[in-house]
Amino acid sequence: MCGIVGYIGARKALPVLIQGLEQLEYRGYDSAGVVCINPTNHSLFLAKEKGKLGQLKSVLNGVSLASTTGIAHTRWATHGAPSKANAHPHEDCKRRIALVHNGIIENYQEIKHKLLKKGHRFRSETDTEIAVHLIEEYYDGDVEQAFRKAVGELKGYFAFVVLSADEPGKLFVFKRSNPMVIGVGNGENFAASDVTAIIPYTRKVIYLEDDEFAVLERDSITISSRASHKPIRKTISEVKWSVDEAKKGGFPNFMLKEIYEQPRVAEETLAKRLKNGKVWFDTLDSKAEAHLKKIRKVFVVSCGTAYHAGLVGRYMLEEYAKVPTEVQVSSEFRYVDPLVTKEDLVILITQSGETADTIAALREARAKGACTLAIVNVVGSTIAREADYVIYTHAGPEIGVASTKAYIAQLLTFALFTIYLACLRKTVSAGFVASYLKEMRKLPKAITTILHREKLLEPPAKTLFKNKNFLFLGRGYNFPTALEGALKLKEISYAHAHGYAAGEMKHGPIALIDSTQPVICIAPFSKTYEKMVSNIQEIKARKAIVLSITTEGDKSVKQLSDWVFPIPKMSEIFSSILSVIPLQLFAYKISVKNHRDVDQPRNLAKSVTVE
Ligand code: GLU
Repeated sequence: MCGIVGYIGARKALPVLIQGLEQLEYRGYDSAGVVCINPTNHSLFLAKEKGKLGQLKSVLNGVSLASTTGIAHTRWATHGAPSKANAHPHEDCKRRIALVHNGIIENYQEIKHKLLKKGHRFRSETDTEIAVHLIEEYYDGDVEQAFRKAVGELKGYFAFVVLSADEPGKLFVFKRSNPMVIGVGNGENFAASDVTAIIPYTRKVIYLEDDEFAVLERDSITISSRASHKPIRKTISEVKWSVDEAKKGGFPNFMLKEIYEQPRVAEETLAKRLKNGKVWFDTLDSKAEAHLKKIRKVFVVSCGTAYHAGLVGRYMLEEYAKVPTEVQVSSEFRYVDPLVTKEDLVILITQSGETADTIAALREARAKGACTLAIVNVVGSTIAREADYVIYTHAGPEIGVASTKAYIAQLLTFALFTIYLACLRKTVSAGFVASYLKEMRKLPKAITTILHREKLLEPPAKTLFKNKNFLFLGRGYNFPTALEGALKLKEISYAHAHGYAAGEMKHGPIALIDSTQPVICIAPFSKTYEKMVSNIQEIKARKAIVLSITTEGDKSVKQLSDWVFPIPKMSEIFSSILSVIPLQLFAYKISVKNHRDVDQPRNLAKSVTVE
């Protein structure tokens, strides 16, 4: 995880770096730090603090540096506790070279041992610090060469930005596995973990590939591969996201803003994908179609919320495209030697496109010859680039750590891809497609209706916010909704929440039920509605406190529940897109009432770029 920013140009570097960190703080907030090169005496100015960026900002309050070159970091600790000493940037013994790092150096212990013997003094417990001492060890007047040599010895995955007081006109960048984007400015250049840190200054970016070095000067960018040292010509891409999209826009936090953006996300997703009564993906050409038509089986591989989108996707694909589908979390898939063949399609779902386990799963699937398709939000991210085919979700930047609008975009994309594949495989009739798409077009309005009912969740949230245990039950398309509702609550309120298939309740969880147990039942009209009603009856007979998500017009569930939240009436397949929204809002309210940090819950970071 971790967020990195580097700047070289004519502006004062410190404000640019701090503003960049503000955008990247979702990637980690255990500590923050900055190093700038003092232009008069070419010494390094270092400031770092434990905790969120606010801590560093208060220390830097009133500090004005003339420096126009610097690097900065916001940390999600992997090696060494969150502390000031372990905060990046790290410096070499002489305090002439400084470095920021995202990732893990797997062989750091043996290198540290070697460097200690050579007399290097360490100030932190991190894996990262060995890298800057290794550069120092190899330095004989040429930072780039020393950096290259040092990187050659490292195992693991990393993105680095390095600067040196001895070569003040340069930033040195390297990437392997972890993201790094170069911002191309006019008389200034940038490096960052993600484009949100760069877009206030430039929309022109270069995505570094694995094992590429970049040397940034004010007026030039030189990129070369680690193997050949030869300069590489790279394409400059144009970022379309607007600066405002990455700001709170009047909401108290990003999560609420992103929940409220969901009607727009649905609207835009449908507008982009529906053409002349058909589903259309700009990135899937006739070659892709020929490929997809023939697939034998689908594997959906993802983590966290995206995994839940995959579970819904499985039901969609099997019901309508009639293709056998298996769903696995990436961290399992990559190590079980999956039985994937050349005839299979592996769908990777990820908001950031940088999730370490999903990258590894993608590479595993490719190595086995499978066709790979990425459903990704961040354009140009590693997974988007490495998969055979990509479908972008176009949710816009998602900053809140708990995913909301990206999930809705993933579900919509799955619903669209299902029909696309079903048409290719001729498993649905033209009439069915027309009515399916007609209904889908109603989703943005239905989501708005749900958001207008937010207040209905106030009474249950007020009653239940002190509870430490919640059970979420659902069936069919809404079983994954139960899992997602429980995950949202865990993430941002720190209460224990368990999602379960309602039919499994009698096989264990019913033992938990007493008059203090809140149970959230996702029970819209569906083919298992009657079964859900019976399940709610069973838990109510044992005096549980019940909040149910129902369909407008429902009577049976209402009679049994303490509170209900009705969603507009739609087919079961689309009910999962709607029913998760009250659960996002419910988790949000419980979190706020407990004074949690909604956007930056403890121990979490937005994109999990380490295993
Ligand atoms: N391993 C480094 C540390 O613990 C960087 C962590 C990361 O990128 O997540 O500081």
